[in-house]
Amino acid sequence: ALKAEIISIGSELVSGQSLDTNSQWLSRELGSLGIPTAFHTTIGDDLDDNVGVFRTAAERADLVLTTGGLGPTQDDLTRDALALAANVGLREDPESLAAIAAMFARRHRTMSERNKVQALFPEGADPLPNAIGTAPGIWMGLGRATFACMPGVPSEMRLMFQEQVIPRLRLRHWIERIIVHRKISLFGRGESDIEAEALDLTARGHVPEVGITVHDATISFRIRGEGLTPEAAWSQTEETADLIRSRFGPLVLGEGTTDVADALVAELTRTGASLATAESCTGGLVAHLITAIPNVSPFYPGGVVSYSNQAKTNFLDVPAELIQAHGAVSPEVAVAMAQGALRRFGADVAVSTTGVAGPGGGSPEKPVGLVYLGLATRDHAEARRLEIGPEQPRDVIQSRSSKQALNWVRL
Ligand code: ATP
Ligand code: MG
Repeated sequence: ALKAEIISIGSELVSGQSLDTNSQWLSRELGSLGIPTAFHTTIGDDLDDNVGVFRTAAERADLVLTTGGLGPTQDDLTRDALALAANVGLREDPESLAAIAAMFARRHRTMSERNKVQALFPEGADPLPNAIGTAPGIWMGLGRATFACMPGVPSEMRLMFQEQVIPRLRLRHWIERIIVHRKISLFGRGESDIEAEALDLTARGHVPEVGITVHDATISFRIRGEGLTPEAAWSQTEETADLIRSRFGPLVLGEGTTDVADALVAELTRTGASLATAESCTGGLVAHLITAIPNVSPFYPGGVVSYSNQAKTNFLDVPAELIQAHGAVSPEVAVAMAQGALRRFGADVAVSTTGVAGPGGGSPEKPVGLVYLGLATRDHAEARRLEIGPEQPRDVIQSRSSKQALNWVRL
């Protein structure tokens, strides 16, 4: 079997100043392409160390991916180290030089002499074009290994890996299996409930492999399909994906990076209904979750953050007597807030939040974590009680109740 080694180069990485995320990303990518990574090595910007590490890797790995050290400055040593490790000289590549010059011209900057070193390559190496930066990568055989040297900047590294390295691995038939990962997200029930209903799918040995993860109360099924072609890998996941959708019905938010807000916005886009918000304990988080998605103005006219009782009366027409009689955290006030927002914004549906986000301010009747949601349409209004739990921190109470509010509108 093939063995890969990933080498991260940069003094900022070994000193602990910044975290090496490139290795993690590359290992995962290689794994999904069926190539196991045997070694992660991290080194500083030191020439002798680089030469030594390159020589070691050339003897123990088939594929060596390096990131960093390709810049124009004195501490960028990857090309020199590779040439030294291979006992060859450096030569200038005219095409790479022209590409670097063109990149500077596009950015209206002058190219310095130093930048020319980025067009130097060890004898016998091929340049890997860089579509979004000045530093080209290097593709070269050394010892038993093939080296792909890429820039340290994560965005440049990723693009170069995808556009330059993967096609070269395919040409060599080093990539045979294709692995796809699909993610189907659910919201509205506890993880253990969902897990109990999916034991047949998550069982060991199930094909395709299914895992469950939870992030901020959103539960995701991850399905891993494998095949010789992308189509074959995808079709292996199909039956399981359909089963999850039909089994969990309305709880399913969608596929991909979908969260409650995305699913709600998709629903509003489909129906054309407009939504207004009225928030107390969530302080605008509901509005933020909606407006974090672009192009919502056609169906989201806006919301009110009415934190004080007076603001609830002034901006949402909640009668002061109602607040006096039931308290701000009450089903009555939640409904009145939603109705006020519905009227003020002329929306088709409005949702509200009012609760005790803590950590202080709770009482035996109204403990921390008690939140009322209100929902109003032109001919209907109701409230819903949430008990998120007095032990939960403020941000969790706010985020849970915001998501529950969005989910209620969605359903
Ligand atoms: P290049 O080869 O693109 O010139 P470099 O090593 O010369 O890379 P640096 O200036 O050292 O460039 O790093 C560029 C940026 O990329 C820095 O913000 C650095 O922290 C980041 N970076 C470098 N290597 C890694 C890594 N392994 N993981 C995450 N970020 C990294
Ligand atoms: Mg560096």
